[in-house]
Amino acid sequence: MHAWPASEVPALPGTGRDLTIHDTATGELVTLEPGPVARLYVCGITPYDATHMGHAATYNAFDLVQRVWLDNKRQVHYVQNVTDVDDPLLERAERDGEDWTVLAERETALFREDMTALRMLPPRQYIGAVESIPKIVPLVERLRDNGAAYELEGDVYFSVESDAHFGEVSGLDAEAMRLLSAERGGDPDRPGKKNPLDPMLWSAARAGEPSWDGGSLGRGRPGWHIECVAIALEYLGMGFDIQGGGSDLAFPHHEMGASHAQALTGEHPFARSYVHAGMVALNGAKMSKSKGNLVFVSTVRRSGVDPAAIRLALLAHHYRADWEWTDQVLVDAAARLDRWRAAVSRPDGPSADALVEEIRTALAHDLDSPAALAAVDRWAGLQESAGGTDEGAPGVVSRAVDALLGVAL
Ligand code: ZN
Repeated sequence: MHAWPASEVPALPGTGRDLTIHDTATGELVTLEPGPVARLYVCGITPYDATHMGHAATYNAFDLVQRVWLDNKRQVHYVQNVTDVDDPLLERAERDGEDWTVLAERETALFREDMTALRMLPPRQYIGAVESIPKIVPLVERLRDNGAAYELEGDVYFSVESDAHFGEVSGLDAEAMRLLSAERGGDPDRPGKKNPLDPMLWSAARAGEPSWDGGSLGRGRPGWHIECVAIALEYLGMGFDIQGGGSDLAFPHHEMGASHAQALTGEHPFARSYVHAGMVALNGAKMSKSKGNLVFVSTVRRSGVDPAAIRLALLAHHYRADWEWTDQVLVDAAARLDRWRAAVSRPDGPSADALVEEIRTALAHDLDSPAALAAVDRWAGLQESAGGTDEGAPGVVSRAVDALLGVAL
């Protein structure tokens, strides 16, 4: 599957910083030590609806990760998936009387448009679940043959007890896991499972649903967690630097994915850090398809809002915070964008050397984008009030905001 076009990332004077970021598994800030090629996997969308601000906030966080790495002279190997077959997608297509493949293609195309407009750097590989099925089947067979998976009425389940490290990503107790499993696509109450938490690896073909050849597994379709594992192992291998996503993916998705991969390879860890973005709310509740309280990136774009203002609205909130989307958030972002554009439109201004270092320092410390924005605000304020004589300064600020924050002034 093709991704979307990359916007150019300008090089900046001076040197970048090592990224320190919050790792869910340890609960601590960790300073990552990627090799020359930093490896990032971020879970992609299930394309049954348009990209909402919660998604955009998550992808914004991992876009910043890449920008810190690129500024620090690392290459970035970024992989993202598209869950282009899953229950919610099939249910939506059924509800609307639409072919599920048409729905998936349309929403994936819109996602690419949104990501391009927001200047999110594209993954090197953008991979669909359906195209990954030939890679997934042998992994499920291997888990079953190793005793890490078992069959139940034709379906195949992963045995969470096969991984000694199960539970280490989310750090939750069994009861919390059971509740979240029921809430987030699991089936803890299905009779016959060895452990209520065991997730499905392969779902046997059901009437009226699409299915694929699963070799010795029989016809069916893959579970969600093994999909990401197959893609991550294929392109990144074990021990990649960051597994990323929204905080609602820590359990079960990232917990299960780590255990699948660890049981498959006998190696640990699947990812060296697990990084999770907070949730965006609207009208007091987390934006979610089930509640219908969504603000879509595409709707806001089509209303004439500059995508750079949407990006600034996201950047105004720390990626780990849960926050509320309001009209005022966007009004403030648009005003900030105007102020910054006016400040860099002059040929000279106050020196920008300290500002570049402030942005770098803020982002390298757990992606503190609000602090980075505050630093640019201070420079813009100085430009407004006193100006300056440094001839290259506005250009440097413009390039720094572009390279480190993904905002074109
Ligand atoms: Zn995933």
